[in-house]
Amino acid sequence: MTVFTHPEFDNHEHVSFFCDPDTGLRAIIAVHNTSRGPALGGCRMFPYASDEEALCDVLRLSRGMTYKSALANLNLGGGKSVIIGDPRQHKTEALLEAMGRFLDQLGGLYIAAEDSGTSVADLKVMGRHTAHVAGVCERPGFDGKPSNGDPSPATAYGTFVGIQAAVKHKLGRSDLDGLTVAIQGIGNVGYRLAEHLKDAGAKLWVYDIHQEQMDRAVDELGAMPASADDILYLPVDVVAPCAMGAVLNDRSIQRLQTTIVAGAANNQLAHASHDQALWQRGILYVPDFVINAGGIIDVYYERNGPDPEAVRTHVESIGHTLEEIFTRSASDGLPTGLIANRLAEERFKHAPR
Ligand code: NAD
Repeated sequence: MTVFTHPEFDNHEHVSFFCDPDTGLRAIIAVHNTSRGPALGGCRMFPYASDEEALCDVLRLSRGMTYKSALANLNLGGGKSVIIGDPRQHKTEALLEAMGRFLDQLGGLYIAAEDSGTSVADLKVMGRHTAHVAGVCERPGFDGKPSNGDPSPATAYGTFVGIQAAVKHKLGRSDLDGLTVAIQGIGNVGYRLAEHLKDAGAKLWVYDIHQEQMDRAVDELGAMPASADDILYLPVDVVAPCAMGAVLNDRSIQRLQTTIVAGAANNQLAHASHDQALWQRGILYVPDFVINAGGIIDVYYERNGPDPEAVRTHVESIGHTLEEIFTRSASDGLPTGLIANRLAEERFKHAPR
C-alpha cells in the first residue's frame, strides 16, 4: 500500500492510522487541507475489503470536503475518517470511545461528524473523550423546529435553493409552480426536498427502494410513484438524485430526458468526464458538492455559535454560488463541475494560513 504516491493522495497535509487491539478499532483520519480552518468531515464505518480500499475512500472523501467547504464559504478545511468494520457487527461503545481518543490526539486538526455507518448517538459516545465531534447538540433548528444535530433539513433546504437557481438559469423561470421534478431516494433529505417543492407548486415523481418511503410521499405529498427503471429517465424539468452516487454514467446520461440534474446525493458523477458528457448533451448539471452543502453549513454554526437565522441566510447563499458557477460555465464554455472545482481551488489555495 502506498501513501505519498497513492493516486488519490493529492498533497494531503496529514494522514493518521490508528489501531486499538483491545477494541478492534482500526481507523484512518485524512486531512486534505486546512488553509481555511480545521478539517471537518464525516466519520464513516464500513466493512472495507482491504486497508487499501479504506485508504482510497478516506483520501477521496477528505479532498471532497475541502472543495465543499471552500465553495460554501466556510472557515473550514477538508478531512474525513474511516473505521474499518461492519457497523452492524463490530460497532461497540468501547470501539467508539477508542475512536474518540484517536480524534483527541489530533488536537482539533480534524473534527468528526456522522456519516454512513455512524449516528449522532455514536458521535456522542466518541465525544466522551474529545471535544472534536460535531453535529451532536440539541438546538433550535434553522427552520424553527428543534434540532438534534441532524443536518438533513439544512441539506434539503439548500438543495431546494439550488434547484431554484438552476431553474432560473436554465429555464428563465423565477417560480416553481407546475415545475416537474423526479426524485430518486425519499429518505431524510429527499422527503424534505419533496416537501419544499410541493409547497412551491411543483409536480413530483418519486422512487425509493423502500416501498413505505414511496407510499408516504404519495399519500402525504400527492407525488406520483415511479419505478426503479424510469425515475431518472422521465421527461421532467428536473431530475434530483437523492439516494446513492455514480448514477450519472455512460449509460444513464444518454437516456436522460431532463434539462437539469440537481440533487443532494454525493458523488453523482461515475467519473469526472461525465461532467463534460452532460454538458455536451445540453443538460445543466448542478455540482453535488455545491448544492448539498447545507448540512455542513448547519454543523459549522453548531460549533461557532448556533444562530438559526444566520444558518438560513448562509444556506441560501448556495444559490448565489451556483449562479456564479452557471454564469462562468456559460461564458467560458466549460462544464459546471469543472468551473466549481476551479472556483473552490481559487478559494482554498489562496486562503491566508
Ligand atoms: P437516507 O439514507 O436517509 O436516504 C436515502 C434514501 O435512498 C433511502 O430512503 C433509501 O431507501 C433510498 N435508496 C437507496 N438506494 C436507492 C436506489 N437505488 N433507488 C432509490 N432509492 C434508493 O440518506 P439521506 O441523508 O437522505 O442522504 C441522501 C443522499 O444525500 C446521500 O447520497 C447522502 O450522502 C447525501 N447527503 C446527505 C446529507 C445529509 O445532510 N443527510 C448531506 C450531504 C449529502
